[in-house]
Amino acid sequence: ILLAEDIEVTRKLVKKILENKGYEVVEAGDGQEAWEIFQKEKEKINIALVDWMMPRLNGLQLCKKIKASKSQGYTYAIFLTGKVDIDNVVEGLEAGADDYVTKPFNKKELISRIDVGRRFIQLHQKLREANHKLHILSVTDGLTRILNRRALLERLEEELHRASRENAFFCLIMLDIDHFKRVNDVYGHQAGDKVLVEVVNRVKSELRPYDIIGRYGGEEFLVGIFGADKEMGSNKAEDFRKCIDEKEFKYSDKKLKITISLGMACQKIGDTRNKIPQLLDDLTKKADDALYRAKETGRNKVICFYDSDK
Ligand code: GH3
Ligand code: MG
Ligand code: MG
Ligand code: MG
Repeated sequence: ILLAEDIEVTRKLVKKILENKGYEVVEAGDGQEAWEIFQKEKEKINIALVDWMMPRLNGLQLCKKIKASKSQGYTYAIFLTGKVDIDNVVEGLEAGADDYVTKPFNKKELISRIDVGRRFIQLHQKLREANHKLHILSVTDGLTRILNRRALLERLEEELHRASRENAFFCLIMLDIDHFKRVNDVYGHQAGDKVLVEVVNRVKSELRPYDIIGRYGGEEFLVGIFGADKEMGSNKAEDFRKCIDEKEFKYSDKKLKITISLGMACQKIGDTRNKIPQLLDDLTKKADDALYRAKETGRNKVICFYDSDK
């Protein structure tokens, strides 16, 4: 609780009452001091208990500043003031305060109003956590734990915007497991699922944290590498191919030989005049085209799309 009160005896009294109830209290002798503390510790301050009449910055101004400041959490603000006019109460609440307690205050009432604030904050935190979990679910592929198709395309568009701003290279690699249907047919769907997860984990271990990987379709994945020219991109794709080819996969007591084919499209992203969705579409088609040729010419290989190809 951030306690802003300029009269020291009142401040000490209120602090003691709150601390006896187990609250942790930070004191401020005026609104300005309270604002400075708030800015530094806003993630830790759940409740602000503010006096109205204070030097430098009054409680009304403080309350408005707190409510206007961007914070992850919610700060439950309560006025504790000698201003008892109904007009003041309304003004205080309209400034964004969540509650209003008048002086002289009743100790039991103050505590129970603070408790209301605490319950509100707990609910708010639960809501935030639930929203966070929902967000993660909405962008994640349930099996492989990488980005799902929708989130993947969104992230790729964001990176293409960035590449366009920075006039940077961008490399898009499409990879597809070879004869994957056979894995399912011979070893069963569960084995197929395990292979999918392992392919993703191996490819991921070749990536930098800021590279993008997502599930584009059933057993097709896209990797986006910012700043990679054709040489860097094809080296990377070759690393992916090798990390799957080099070591056999294990499923219960069986050893499976898995390979992947890769198609790559790469270009410098200049001024795109905001035609990013078309550009992504175009790159994806090129990568798909190259992948098709990798399949046709023997699989377990990388083919790069060159603009002279078409
Ligand atoms: P190619 O080398 O030409 O890519 O042949 P393929 O057999 O890999 O390709 P095809 O497109 O014929 O088959 C893909 C298979 O992937 C068919 C589908 O059942 C399987 N598949 C897609 N998603 C999943 C999944 O989540 N789990 C499992 N186990 N199989 C999947
Ligand atoms: Mg005062
Ligand atoms: Mg396949
Ligand atoms: Mg496929």
